[in-house]
Amino acid sequence: MDLNGAGVFITGGTGGIGAALAAAFASAGAGVVTSDLPGLGADIDLDVTDAAAVASAIAGLDRLDVVVANAGIGVGGLVEDIDRVGWDRSIEVNIRGVVNTVLPAYERLQEQGSGSIVLMASLAGLAGTPLLTPYAMTKSAIVGLAASLRPEAARHGIGVTVVCPGPVETPLLDEPTPTPGGDVRRYLIASAGNPMAPSALADLVLDAVRKDKAKVIPGRAKLLWRLSRFAPNLTDREIAKGMHKELEAAARQG
Ligand code: NAD
Repeated sequence: MDLNGAGVFITGGTGGIGAALAAAFASAGAGVVTSDLPGLGADIDLDVTDAAAVASAIAGLDRLDVVVANAGIGVGGLVEDIDRVGWDRSIEVNIRGVVNTVLPAYERLQEQGSGSIVLMASLAGLAGTPLLTPYAMTKSAIVGLAASLRPEAARHGIGVTVVCPGPVETPLLDEPTPTPGGDVRRYLIASAGNPMAPSALADLVLDAVRKDKAKVIPGRAKLLWRLSRFAPNLTDREIAKGMHKELEAAARQG
């Protein structure tokens, strides 16, 4: 796809990755419309859990070639410590919010017979991520959505790309609470490596959209993903080790 002059719509567009994507698409010559929760300075104030509002925003766009379902939240902790509100909110924002975005955009892209759908998942959607179970569950759903939608969408000339990074340097790394006293940043860095810059991820996403790549799994995340496919038992043991290390560190911290 040629991004020069393309219309791009991004949810969660003022967050760490969303803003980097907006900047990268804009510098490629695209017309970018960001949306985000009210008060954050996006072009459109929008809660992705409100299906009617998302549909109406998408219907009102002058041009739509690329839709990026990027808005997301992180909820974690030991499962016994996570209340229903955390589970429900994870499902509402990370799954229903994506469905609310993808369905009206897909309809519009089908009518024009071209376009690209970018779904922001995570390495947590490809491999077990204890202490972030609700988050991992929702991101696995997005990986499943992308894999199943992609061949259907191709019939209409529409690309589907799923993005599965490990840690990215954004406020999300400090958002979820892995367990009382735990530290999600420390946990993720220990298990999946240092966070990448949002701008570096954005460059990979643009390249994927241009070339209609199915997946973006950057750097160390790709290594871990491959390991989980070729040596699943070993990977499971390493994942469990990482969890125990974090729980011990959290207990020492008090
Ligand atoms: P972020 O917190 O900086 O950005 C998330 C954005 O989503 C924010 O602007 C927030 O306001 C918005 N948002 C949250 N709830 C919303 C709602 N109900 N309606 C509309 N907007 C809402 O975090 P980020 O790292 O930029 O996250 C962007 C996406 O990337 C998320 O889907 C996240 O799961 C995914 N991701 C992040 C990392 C990471 O390490 N940062 C890794 C893998 C995947």
